Amino acid sequence: ALTYDDGPGDASETKILDCLEQNGAVATFFYTGTRATKRPDQNKRAKTLGCEMGNHSWNHPQLTKISPEAAQDQLTRTNDAVQSACGSAPTVFRPCYGATNDTVNSLAQMPVIMWSIDTLDWKSKNVTEIIGKVMQQISDHDIILMHDYYETSVEAALQIVDRLQQEGYEFVTVEDLILE
Ligand code: ZN
Repeated sequence: ALTYDDGPGDASETKILDCLEQNGAVATFFYTGTRATKRPDQNKRAKTLGCEMGNHSWNHPQLTKISPEAAQDQLTRTNDAVQSACGSAPTVFRPCYGATNDTVNSLAQMPVIMWSIDTLDWKSKNVTEIIGKVMQQISDHDIILMHDYYETSVEAALQIVDRLQQEGYEFVTVEDLILE
């Protein structure tokens, strides 16, 4: 399962969605509410392509460091933003920075999804390194973490989708991965 955090992005998001569409692949997008509100069109297109919508908070705080009421507000506002953009509320939740606890998990009221391959794309901003991280570690049922803001992440994703499909991997949503 390919997963993208912090979007919907602008031009980079368009390229990723084009790539998924051309390759008959899907991904799971963990949106922030602020971005979903800015680019409801991207959100809607992702949904139309069969991608899965995830909640990644309203404006990316560490949810364990704010009050439960504020955390609930972060989650609810984002659910509402995604629902109004594409007609469906998020079905999975990924905590920002991977920071969560029992309180946050129970507030989310949906599966809490981490990752098994961290591409560190935001850090390296290096296409070869990002591809290397995935190709060296990949096996069945992996959840790949990427971010849809950086040109380098997009470029790497285009090649990763191509190469993994050639190796016989199938891209599925996180939900399908869990249900398998
Ligand atoms: Zn994030």
